[in-house]
Amino acid sequence: MEHRAEARIDVAAITANISLLKDLSGVDLLAVVKADAYGHGLIEIGLAAQKSGADWLGVALLEEAIALRTHGVQIPILAWLLPPGSDFRAAHNHNIDIAVASIAAFNELSSMKSQARIHIEVDTGMTRGGFLDEWQEFLTLDFSHVEVVGIFSHFARADEPNEKQNPDQLNRFNAMVADLAAIGINPPIKHISNSAATMKNHDATFDLVRTGIAMYGLSPDVKTLGDSKALGLKPAMQLRAKLHLVKKVPAGSLVGYGATAVTKADTTLGVVAMGYADGIPRTAQAAGVFFDGTRAPIIGRVSMDQFMVDLGPDSTAISGDWTIVFGDGSRGEYTADDWGAASSSINYEIITRIGPRVPRIYAPHVY
Ligand SMILES: *Cc1c(COP(=O)(O)O)cnc(C)c1O
Repeated sequence: MEHRAEARIDVAAITANISLLKDLSGVDLLAVVKADAYGHGLIEIGLAAQKSGADWLGVALLEEAIALRTHGVQIPILAWLLPPGSDFRAAHNHNIDIAVASIAAFNELSSMKSQARIHIEVDTGMTRGGFLDEWQEFLTLDFSHVEVVGIFSHFARADEPNEKQNPDQLNRFNAMVADLAAIGINPPIKHISNSAATMKNHDATFDLVRTGIAMYGLSPDVKTLGDSKALGLKPAMQLRAKLHLVKKVPAGSLVGYGATAVTKADTTLGVVAMGYADGIPRTAQAAGVFFDGTRAPIIGRVSMDQFMVDLGPDSTAISGDWTIVFGDGSRGEYTADDWGAASSSINYEIITRIGPRVPRIYAPHVY
């Protein structure tokens, strides 16, 4: 049986990207596999990253970390979104390192008296995760019932390497590391770099880099850093979908919900078997699919399970033909970057929102 749509994952591309990022940083690499490995499949990519030389895996949720452990991941795993009330006992039992960003969470961990492995998360200027207002009080607590493995933070503007906020955050990080040292806590692993900093800010490397988007072969910011090709990265996901229907229509045909589009001339329309329930953004304007060597733009609104494309008057497409929704761009097809731009979003959101009903197909080489 053939699927109506597939996300084809080139595992060799991920291996190549990991090698490149490890060479660039020269330190241990934490492969970020949160959000179903950015839509590529948590377990498959977690295991592939481990095999490809990643030293750590990083996830947001405890459930993600436990799933990796129970499917054979042996390298260290850090999970960084465990609010108070999380099952810290389970995390400890599965040998999962836990990021701590609040006194409430620290107290729960400490009261287990089990020497749980923690990474202290500090807010150095992004005003999102990490200690900020509780920091001075935190420094007065008893650290004897935990093992402090790391201290880390996160950049807000690493994709804009010339912004002053980057050195400001770095200074703040060093100051907070010194605060800890002053009370006798010297975490062996300091880390702050995401993909953009790993590639563009070598002052921020420390002991470990946490790479997400670049490992999947995409640029953290096409405008400021260039695209995948410019960065030497190989996009790992190709999304393809079948034409459910192909129909010849006359000029003046009203297309889709709300009749927001009208055909300007006689043409061939393709009905693509994917929709917003599969992660195709309803707001996408200047995107489409690639068929027979050319781009066929979206026409009309994207529906839940399908959208229409204009294949042009001379198209030879027939129902059941495959189209490429996005790929690495080497054949002229749209990329995840294009879909991000076309929907006022970013490549991160495009790949992470490919829905669960789209099967992921793994191959060492897809095309
Ligand atoms: C998601 C995330 C990363 C990875 O960011 P990329 O830009 O995808 O490399 C790194 N660290 C933390 C804390 C994150 O939440």
